[in-house]
Amino acid sequence: MRKKIIAGNWKMNKDIHETVSLVNEIKDRLNGLSKNNVDVIICPPFTSLVIASGLIKGSTIKLGAQNMYHKDDGAYTGEISARMLKSIGCEYVILGHSERRQYFSETNEFINLKVKQAILYNLIPIICVGETLEGRESKVTKNIIETQIKGVLSGLTQEQINKIIIAYEPVWAIGTGKNATPEQANEVHQFIRKIISRLYSWDTAERLTIQYGGSVNPQNAYDLLSQSDIDGALVGGACLKADSFINIIGAATQCYVK
Ligand code: PEP
Repeated sequence: MRKKIIAGNWKMNKDIHETVSLVNEIKDRLNGLSKNNVDVIICPPFTSLVIASGLIKGSTIKLGAQNMYHKDDGAYTGEISARMLKSIGCEYVILGHSERRQYFSETNEFINLKVKQAILYNLIPIICVGETLEGRESKVTKNIIETQIKGVLSGLTQEQINKIIIAYEPVWAIGTGKNATPEQANEVHQFIRKIISRLYSWDTAERLTIQYGGSVNPQNAYDLLSQSDIDGALVGGACLKADSFINIIGAATQCYVK
């Protein structure tokens, strides 16, 4: 049985004062929600992680980072290691987000190094894959997804594959207000499961959590999350206000849980 997992990717938003307000509001509002079958993760920017970590202590909210470097430590100016994230209470890290691929030239090979390092430090990587608008219009979505999945997971053992989350995030749907239809998203999720079953086993594929990301909001969340193979959401814009984030979590609690 797969649990729904809702993660909020704050991106480069919220200073520490705004972080305190938002985390406190999410915490308060979550208390009134039955969320037995839903895990909630917040991923603030690096500068807010320590304060957020303290604020969520004793609550069910989990902490994630938005990126990390694949080395243990050393002369890598401006970078943050998996060990550092772990030491402040992070349990998750988003890797390979399309904005990292687009603006910081991250490749599947580079993301693969980070994935392995995250798992080594017991951080669960939320690994993003997704096609561009051009890719979808040229009908090569599946080729793109297969190449990304094989690249970012290259060399991962059966044991390691059980410690990851995949987020399917069509690039054309991120921050654009245009979400994939539930059927479009579910079809790609099923395809991802098929690739994993070919690379590992059907059992492994069935257990894998695959989130959808791309303009998820309180209005479309239920329809997306109630699809057979959509196990949660990676939420950008709508996680920056407690109200919309909580309503998305609420929609997840309403879904049939397999
Ligand atoms: C994201 O950046 O991961 C994302 C899905 O953003 P948005 O919800 O704003 O489309």
